Amino acid sequence: MNVTVVAVGPQPSTLVCPSCRATVQTRVDRKATTKTHIIALVLCLFLCWPCVCVPYCMDSCRNADHYCPNCNSYIGTYQS
Ligand SMILES: [Zn+2]
Repeated sequence: MNVTVVAVGPQPSTLVCPSCRATVQTRVDRKATTKTHIIALVLCLFLCWPCVCVPYCMDSCRNADHYCPNCNSYIGTYQS
């Protein structure tokens, strides 16, 4: 395994891409996690079902994958 995983935050960050060595502002792709689905399920069961979409809209409930906009390589993931 020769994968460089960079510690990144939840927001797009400026760093040197490990693949193309360019200084880039990362492109962030947020993904729903297991935690997101669990919160949605709990809301569905105990609260009001219209709230189910809320965790999917909250950045804190989702992981953020960072990609290089220059070479499109994966840089790292922020785990919420
Ligand atoms: Zn790159």
